[in-house]
Amino acid sequence: MPSFQRAAKGALADTQQRRNLAHATATIRAKRAAVVGEVADWEALRVAGADAKDEALHHLPDYLEQLEANLTARGATVHWARDAAEANQVVIDVARAQGADEVVKVKSMATQEIELNEALEEAGIAAWETDLAELIVQLGQDRPSHILVPAIHRNRAEIREIFRREMGRAGRAAPEDLTDEPARLAEAARLHLREKFLRAKVAVSGANFAVADTGTLVVVESEGNGRMCLTLPQTLVSIVGVEKVLPTFADLGTMMQLLPRSSTGERMNPYTSTWTGVTPGDGPQEVHVVLLDNGRSRVLADEVGREALRCIRCSACLNVCPVYERAGGHAYGSVYPGPIGAVLNPLLRGVSSDVDKSLPYASSLCGACFEACPVRIDIPSLLVHLRTQVVDEASGRSAEAAGMRAASWVFGDHRRLEAAQRAASLGGRLLGGRTIRSVPGLGAWTQARDVPTPPTETFRQWWARSHRNDGHTGEDA
Ligand code: SF4
Repeated sequence: MPSFQRAAKGALADTQQRRNLAHATATIRAKRAAVVGEVADWEALRVAGADAKDEALHHLPDYLEQLEANLTARGATVHWARDAAEANQVVIDVARAQGADEVVKVKSMATQEIELNEALEEAGIAAWETDLAELIVQLGQDRPSHILVPAIHRNRAEIREIFRREMGRAGRAAPEDLTDEPARLAEAARLHLREKFLRAKVAVSGANFAVADTGTLVVVESEGNGRMCLTLPQTLVSIVGVEKVLPTFADLGTMMQLLPRSSTGERMNPYTSTWTGVTPGDGPQEVHVVLLDNGRSRVLADEVGREALRCIRCSACLNVCPVYERAGGHAYGSVYPGPIGAVLNPLLRGVSSDVDKSLPYASSLCGACFEACPVRIDIPSLLVHLRTQVVDEASGRSAEAAGMRAASWVFGDHRRLEAAQRAASLGGRLLGGRTIRSVPGLGAWTQARDVPTPPTETFRQWWARSHRNDGHTGEDA
């Protein structure tokens, strides 16, 4: 995976994508600002949301065990998965036990993170995405570029072409006379998906929240496809990141005020599905819940970085980020793009790969993400924290580290500092005010900046010269 900077350079040349992104993020930003502005105690709500998540994270083992006990008591089977391979194997085993060669899926970041579709395909099981945007991405053999709107980089004409070209290969074909009107595109997707919903024996979902004190899982969505998956098939497997736990059902009330406003800019989303284990005669009669770690324990162990586990995947930080708006989601090299991706990916995976090393620098640190975040994640501070880790990892090897060691030696002794200042003044006089445009070894830094010309005299020399007659010397300065 290339570094963010390299991938972003390519993405910046795609003017169509930049237009699509600018239009989409500006629209969502305006909607969000309007509905957030209606809430008099928005700041208090943010604090309550952050507190609920922090309470869960500070006592995570206890709340997870409570969740497991309540789920089990209500007829669900709980599995614990340390990593992607373990989680994927649970889904494969459940599908095989049902004799299923296909599953329908609710949009889920966790299943993308563990590359479930690819694992199922290898096992000979087809995974059908049922969220409209995920369907567009899947049919187009593309990658998601936004947490909430995975096909945000596509416009209507592109979507029509994907539907006409690909739908027939995966099931019911798109109508011959399909236009790019949103209603016609949605109708084509609905007809294509309906037969899959009615046929599937097994569904796979994630969960937005998992309530410990009741054992309730919650999926928040806009299209109703999630409700179809969660109610029609006889077997349901939900992959739930361990950080999704909420202590109490009352906390869900807080989250449901924060999430729709921050994500789609709505007071309330159209479909909120909640289920607690198995209800005899109603919905799936076999319910599996996979509690997924996959690096989350590592994040939890990082006293600063653990704040990122508060994230409720609303995508508000993406929509306000000037870097994301221009570079797009693919440049982040992960299913988690934008500001939260720039911190979450290196926290989950470490900072050893090129892309994870580069992500903490995919930001101007303007702070817009923190202002927008409904659970008050201080993303700029986390980015700085991660930059420190990147520098520490490279310490002793980079030009910056060598420069810092040299500066430390010079500043460590006043004689060395004065000698360095005299040398710099001499250099300034020799340059005669000319600008330094490049310095050997600092090519990347000076490509976009000029090096300041050293002054022809130091402050102490100036002080001594200009106060020669009033009794002060340079030593007073
Ligand atoms: S970091 Fe905050 S704003 Fe960004 S997706 Fe997560 S909850 Fe939303």
